[in-house]
Amino acid sequence: MIRTPPDATDTSIDVDIDIDEIRRRLTAERAELLGKLSTVGEDATVRRSDVPDGIGETEHLVSAERQDVSSRVLALTRHALDEVDEALARLDDGTYGDCIGCGAQISPDRLDAIPAASCCLACQSSREGITR
Ligand SMILES: [Zn+2]
Repeated sequence: MIRTPPDATDTSIDVDIDIDEIRRRLTAERAELLGKLSTVGEDATVRRSDVPDGIGETEHLVSAERQDVSSRVLALTRHALDEVDEALARLDDGTYGDCIGCGAQISPDRLDAIPAASCCLACQSSREGITR
């Protein structure tokens, strides 16, 4: 299969990662996640006593369900935030783009799709194979 490089004028052999761009995207994602964390966080900590009087049983159930979903979203958001923080730390110490599993260079395509990716596709797959 023949692949056309996205930028035909770029003849460098080195893996080409725009660190500044990655940092911008990670910083933006971090801000977004922090914002989400504070909104969802409030939602997840809503207490039963905060529910106004006079609402039906169904609404209580919906409220409980919503809280449950919120705590799950909260956990996922925290996890994503951790990954972004780690990626930013790796940018700072110059190890960004190296797989934390095998040390290989993570493909720029993958980093472009997931800037917070910490390991290469092969390691990610084997990890998921173990945990699933
Ligand atoms: Zn790897």
